[in-house]
Amino acid sequence: MDIARLGVHESVGAVCPPAAFVEQLQDVDAAVSVVDEDVSAVDAVVTFGHADAFVGLDWVHCIRAGYDDFPVEAYRDAGTALTNSTGIHGASVGETTLGLMLSLARRLHEYRDAQTERTWTTPAWDAPFTLRDERLTVVGLGTLGRGIATRGDAIGMHVDGVRRTPARTPHVRTVYTPDRLHEAVADARFVAVAVPLTASTRGLIDADALAAMRDDAYLVNVARGAVVEEDALVTALETDALAGAALDVFETEPLPESSPLWDLDDVLVTPHAAPLDREYPTDVARLVRTNLRHAAADGALVNRVA
Ligand code: NAD
Repeated sequence: MDIARLGVHESVGAVCPPAAFVEQLQDVDAAVSVVDEDVSAVDAVVTFGHADAFVGLDWVHCIRAGYDDFPVEAYRDAGTALTNSTGIHGASVGETTLGLMLSLARRLHEYRDAQTERTWTTPAWDAPFTLRDERLTVVGLGTLGRGIATRGDAIGMHVDGVRRTPARTPHVRTVYTPDRLHEAVADARFVAVAVPLTASTRGLIDADALAAMRDDAYLVNVARGAVVEEDALVTALETDALAGAALDVFETEPLPESSPLWDLDDVLVTPHAAPLDREYPTDVARLVRTNLRHAAADGALVNRVA
């Protein structure tokens, strides 16, 4: 695979300015430039999202871990290699998740809300709690899941997890297989969702899974919105069948103004921002550089998904 001209698609602007990616890729052998939908002058692109014009290129690198909105079959049929950025978000999403759990436990969001009203107020005496000794179940133990589990364990939580192969995982006490999901979440104070969106994970956290959780439990979703049945979640929150939620991803993004999630107590809404980080272009460039080397040498691209 001969990649002489590499385009940075303007869609990466969703994460940081395209020029930041170009700057990080100054040292590669290929000529690097920012491109729009017209990719006729490049062999490969680094992109946030899919565009039909990409199908037919030699290689497309997605700067996200999730590639559920890419037509993978079309890439395969056209012989266009598609790679993703799995592996770079463990620390960023791990820390965001820990922060969200800490806010819910220590009531930090309430204090900030009160500050915007210039109000000096304290919560009910028995509302704040510590994460220490609380149970956390992480659903999906890949890069994100392990990043979350490591940080939960570090702060003294008891961490369990769900993964497809029931292999021992560092920082995780009990590993359940997906068929035991309800058992895995039943005792948890926090359930963090970190699976990719696939045919088998769409709607994984449905009304039954939510009903299996404790009434005082919190759901954290940093994966993809459609992994959780949003209507069922709203019902569980409105009927106090769940204590709260921290949601970075939604069935529809941006979250519509009419969504009840905006106004529910103890629901933290973040704008699909969990992995944002000033090192993002540096981390992506490292993957791209590795794959440019593989493209020139053996064609064995890492993180290849099509
Ligand atoms: P990854 O490939 O490293 O890990 C995914 C893990 O989920 C794998 O270990 C896989 O075996 C496991 N898995 C798949 N189906 C499962 C199931 N049914 N039950 C249990 N485990 C299952 O990917 P990652 O980097 O950890 O990212 C995971 C997903 O999180 C991405 O696909 C993406 O959709 C999402 N994500 C969101 C953000 C964000 O902005 N909030 C950032 C990064 C990733």
